[in-house]
Parts: sequence; structure tokens; C-alpha cells
Amino acid sequence: MFDTLTKGFRNAKNRLAGLAELDDKNIETALREVRLSLLEADVDLGVVKSFLASVKQTALGQTVQVVAKHGDTKVKVTAGDQFVKICHDELVTRMAHEGDPIQWEDKGPTGIMMVGLQGSGKTTSCGKLARLYQKDGKKVLLVAADMQRPAAVEQLKILGGQIDVPVFNMPATPVEICQRGWEEAKKLGYDLVIFDTAGRLAVDDVLMQELEAIKGSVQPKNIFFVVDAMIGQDAVRTARTFHDRLAFGGVVMTKLDGDARGGAALSVKTITGAPVLFVGVGETTDKFEEFRADGMATRVLGMGDVVGLMKDFEGVIDQKKAEEDALRMLQGEFTSTTSSARSRPSSRWGRSTTSSTRCPASAA
Ligand code: GDP
Repeated sequence: MFDTLTKGFRNAKNRLAGLAELDDKNIETALREVRLSLLEADVDLGVVKSFLASVKQTALGQTVQVVAKHGDTKVKVTAGDQFVKICHDELVTRMAHEGDPIQWEDKGPTGIMMVGLQGSGKTTSCGKLARLYQKDGKKVLLVAADMQRPAAVEQLKILGGQIDVPVFNMPATPVEICQRGWEEAKKLGYDLVIFDTAGRLAVDDVLMQELEAIKGSVQPKNIFFVVDAMIGQDAVRTARTFHDRLAFGGVVMTKLDGDARGGAALSVKTITGAPVLFVGVGETTDKFEEFRADGMATRVLGMGDVVGLMKDFEGVIDQKKAEEDALRMLQGEFTSTTSSARSRPSSRWGRSTTSSTRCPASAA
């Protein structure tokens, strides 16, 4: 998975081999490699352009520090290493979400309405999400309101049975089912209510109206768009349409265990403003994870060793500067302009490599 992207970033790094500095010319050569691989991985063209522009802007604003202390050894940091780290940070910024993936109601049950095309993995993800939060100690109710696909209600009941979560359904319209399920949840003191809604093979107005009606009637605190990562560009176009009508707040990306090229994962937040919150990585209910942008960026780049090295390197710079600042402060010379905490991308996934797996290309 992500082979195309990984190859592109590696080629870009190779283009900078042996160079100590990033300049206008060599950065263009490296960016060309990245551009090709992003397009090949089905990343939205607008996203490709803005990604490359941001990387270029950051890269040209930085001076490459050639040598850093890494533990007891000195390591050389090349222009290629620097470039990889800049790309990593940009990827993280474009995918990261802050804080709890679920917005909780202050009082009473919290609703999550799951929307998306038929076959995207909606019903499966309802079960997965229910399992995740039930394990977290929440009292969860599943509401089966996909009356479009005949097997969906039965499928959800089977999933609910497997994870021991009740499933609410009744012979009625989807809006009525959701309303009644919501009432039940309030009456019986549930913490979380997950509404499985109908999908279609393509976006259509009747589907959107039905979803809007459900949204209006139960006013769920969360609407998650479920999308199949393997669909690429089409997935992003669908996401835009769903977002225009329903203003969903988060994305559940499924089938990341398949051979997705990564385009949708990289594009969806830039296009809709809604980040990926959870990922499906298999068919069974346990194959579900909270999305970690830092881990995804490292996988896309395929160069955890370099990123780990650069993070260490930044730490060294920060520490040195912090010591200097502390000394100045003690000497009464500190002014606000001397403060230089280097900004880091927000990420909820820690460092992805350990020093034992890191292998700096050159040790000085
Ligand atoms: P819905 O029509 O959107 O409700 O889609 P379903 O939940 O029925 O899922 C469609 C198919 O995708 C089923 O065969 C699921 O087992 C499969 N599926 C869902 N999520 C994943 C996933 O994360 N990985 C894999 N490999 N298959 C998945």
C-alpha cells in the first residue's frame, strides 16, 4: 500500500543526494518527483498544488544545519533528510485532527450519524465504532435505519449480537426509526447512539433529502462520512457533495488494509475541512483504529528512520537554544524576540521510530 507515494518521496530524496543545501533549483527537481507520485496516487490536483507550494515555501525558508549531535555521535543531516522532514510535517498538517474524535453532549446521549455511499463500509463501521466505545465503558445503542439495502438491518443485528450491543429497529420510515431510537436511548440512559443510514451506489437527491431529514429530526452531535479508501478521486468528489449537503464533521476511511494508493486519505481534509478520525483496516469488528496522522505520514513516506533522526535533531537545536535562553534570562537579557520554541505539527501519534531502528545515512 502507498507504494507509489513512497517511491516518489524516495526518488525526491535521491535527487537531493550529496547536497547540503536546499535551493530554488534543486528543490524543483525534488518536487517534480513528488508531484508525479501524488498524481499517480490519485491525490486531488488542487491538493497536489497547494502541498507542493507549502513544502517549497518552508524548504526555502530553512537553512540546512549540516551536523547534529545524535546521542554520543555526530550525524550529518543532508538536504534530502531536511526535505523528507518538511514533507512529513506538511502531510501531518494536512491530515491531523485535534482532540477527542467524538464531540460529546454535555447531558444525555451523544449521537453519531453515519453516512456514505452503499458498499463504503458504513454498516460494518457502525459495529466497529460501537465495539470501540463499548470497550471504553460507554453504553452504546445501534440504530438500524438503512431500509434501502434489505440485508443491512440483519447485518447490523448480527454485528450487534457479536459485540453484545443492542440494535434498535422497527417497521417504519428511516426518520421515524431514528427518532424512536433516539427517544429509547434517552429513556434508557445510553451514552452513545450510532445511526446506520442508507447509502446509494451514487449520490442522489432522494438519498440526500432523507439524510437531511434524519439530521434535522435527531440533530446528532456528530456526522461521520464513511468512505472507501480504494476509490481515490471519486471518493473525494463524493465527500464534497455529502459535505455540501450535510456538513459532516469527520471521516471514517475504510479498507485501508487493501491496496489503496493514499489519494483520498491525503485529500479529504483539505477538500472538506473534515479530518479522517477513524480507519477500518479489515472486515472484522476489531479491525478499527483511531486515525493517527503522524503514523500515516510516516507510512506514506516510508522513511521513518529519516523522520526520527530529524526529530532528534530538532530536539537538539531546541535544547541548545533553550539553554542559551535560560542563561540570558539569568543574566537579565531575555526579551520576547529571543524565544524560539520551534513549532511542531500537532499530532497525537508519538515518534514512530526508536533510536535502535534509526540508521543515519552518514556519521561524521
Ligand atoms: P455499507 O453498504 O456501506 O453498509 O457497507 P458494508 O458495511 O456492508 O461493507 C461493504 C463490504 O466492505 C463488506 O464486505 C465489508 O465486510 C467490507 N468492509 C468494510 N470495512 C472494511 C475494511 O476496513 N476492510 C476491508 N477489507 N473490508 C471492509
